[in-house]
Amino acid sequence: MIRMIVGVSETFDSAHFLPNHPKCGKVHGHTYKVEVEVEGELRDGMVIDFEDLKAILREIVSKFDHKLINDLIDNPTCENICLAIFNEIKDRLKDLKVIRVKVYENPNKWAEIRI
Ligand SMILES: [Zn+2]
Repeated sequence: MIRMIVGVSETFDSAHFLPNHPKCGKVHGHTYKVEVEVEGELRDGMVIDFEDLKAILREIVSKFDHKLINDLIDNPTCENICLAIFNEIKDRLKDLKVIRVKVYENPNKWAEIRI
């Protein structure tokens, strides 16, 4: 059986700090990039309309954009941000399988959930 997977990405700019971390304990910022992939059946040639998937992802990351992420997540590591976005997008897409969420803190560092 063919597995059909579609993906979208978004970026957002946020500040954070990691409490008690020697280097990341001071408030600083990143341009985060999020990639989301979902798997599902083809309906009328689509798994999900890219516009719909992008709108959902944009809505989720807009909660973080130009905010101090510590106000939203206790220990906002790249891993915890990835987990929060994964859980939220999974809740929003009940009839599709969210198979991958990847959050880049910068081009050289990322955290990823794969199902
Ligand atoms: Zn950081």
